[in-house]
This record gives sequence, C-alpha cells and structure tokens, in this order.
Amino acid sequence: MHIDILTLFPQMFQVPFSIGIFKRAIDRKLVRVNIHNIRDYTHDKHHIVDDYAYGGGAGMLLKPEPIFEAVESIKSDIYLEQGADELPIILLTPQGRLFSQQIAHELSKYSHLILICGHYEGVDERVHEHLVTDKISIGDYVLSGGELAAMVVVDAVVRLLPGVLGSEASVLNDSHATGLLEYSQYTRPAVYRGWSVPEVLLSGNHAQIAKWRREQAIQRTLERRPELLDKANLSLEGRQLAERLSLRGK
Ligand code: SAH
Repeated sequence: MHIDILTLFPQMFQVPFSIGIFKRAIDRKLVRVNIHNIRDYTHDKHHIVDDYAYGGGAGMLLKPEPIFEAVESIKSDIYLEQGADELPIILLTPQGRLFSQQIAHELSKYSHLILICGHYEGVDERVHEHLVTDKISIGDYVLSGGELAAMVVVDAVVRLLPGVLGSEASVLNDSHATGLLEYSQYTRPAVYRGWSVPEVLLSGNHAQIAKWRREQAIQRTLERRPELLDKANLSLEGRQLAERLSLRGK
C-alpha cells in the first residue's frame, strides 16, 4: 500500500513511522508513506497557506490552491505509475464519517490512499466539495490539526495489511474485528500478588479455552458496550448466550 499525507507539519510524522510495527512494515516494503508539505505547493514568496474567512470570524482557513495542486501532482504521478482509477482522497475533519474498524478494513483494500490534514480553523469548503472523495472524523471532539487523526487512521489500516503483524490471527480476535470486545488475556506469572490466572487457561483444553473466551467476549461487551452487541454478527449459539448472560445480569 502507498499512502500520501498532506500536512503543514511533516515533522509530526517522523517518530510514529520510524518505530515498531510501522518501521518494520516500511522496511519490508509492505507500505510506503510519503509526507508532503502543503507549503511546498505555494507559488508566492512567503509560501502562504492560509487566509481570513470571507464573512468574518475568528481564525484562519487553509487556502484551496496549494491543496488542490498537491493532490493533482500526486495523482498525476500515480497515473503514470499504475493508472489507479479508484483512489480515495480523504480529508480528516470532525465533520466526516466516524472512523471505525469497519472503515479501517474498507480502506485496507486499496493500493493507494491520499490523506489531507487540515489546521487552524479548517479548510476552504471547495476542498470538501470538489477535491476529496471521503471525509473521516476520528471522534466527536475537535483537534487542532488533522495530523494525529491521520496517524490514527493510518495505524489502524496498516496493521490490517497482510504480513504487517507477526500473527495474522491476532487481527481476527481484536476488539471490534468480530463486533465484540476482545476477551481478557493473561501472561506469566500464573499468580501475581495473589491474583491467579483463570484455571481454564492453564488447562491445555483448547475447546474449553475457546468456549471461555467466547463467553468472556460476549459478557464484557454486554457490560461495557452493550450497543455493540446489536450489530455484532453472532451465531445462534452466541445470541442465546448473550441473552442468558443479559438475563443473569438483571
Ligand atoms: N472549524 C472546524 C474544525 C477545525 S479543527 C470545524 O468546526 O469543523 C482543525 C483541523 O483539525 C481540521 O481541519 C481537521 O483536519 C482536524 N481535525 C480536528 N478534529 C478532528 C477530528 N475529530 N477528526 C479528524 N480530524 C480532525
């Protein structure tokens, strides 16, 4: 996967992309990330990227020209390379669709993504209307820039790419991947400060362990995020279990 990120603050991306799982994915050429400074696409002497809002009001808006030109330049390189016809151009904005594991999955299917980070008071509406193909919000709160939001989206997408995580199975069981929260997990020691790991996990009985985990996942989803259960794709057995647990809790 190839990801282009447009930002006014390229330096913000240096650390996250140079450590851990991300660095390994880049080194192994599973993902390529290019950070573009929006300021490089200005033509005036002072490289101005923002301006006052028409109609007044506090704060500065990002001007449309450098953003359009940056995207067009990236797009023309892509067309030369591979003739990409489906290329999501995503604006990070608190007004976008709410990011989720499902959207991360959807985005992980593309070979190329362009992400645009706003700043200040936001970006000129013509970018929303005539340039981007998608708008994503990472939550119902307002950040000072789209950079952290872009990192959240890119991180969630990249860990889904084949080969990025050590064990593919770990992605399948993650919270939200199944529509449920993940069951509780323990590592050594078996007893810590008098708190023991549940017996069943030490039993070596894989069928029992799988059953216990399934119940755990349903139970904690019921306790912590009951609204997720309605949407979860549960088997008949899972549904019945959820109903029993929910009755027990009443
Ligand atoms: N005035 C704008 C908010 C601007 S915040 C409004 O009310 O809609 C500045 C920038 O931070 C935005 O352009 C966007 O890129 C980013 N941003 C802020 N909150 C965000 C969120 N919840 N999700 C994604 N991006 C966000």
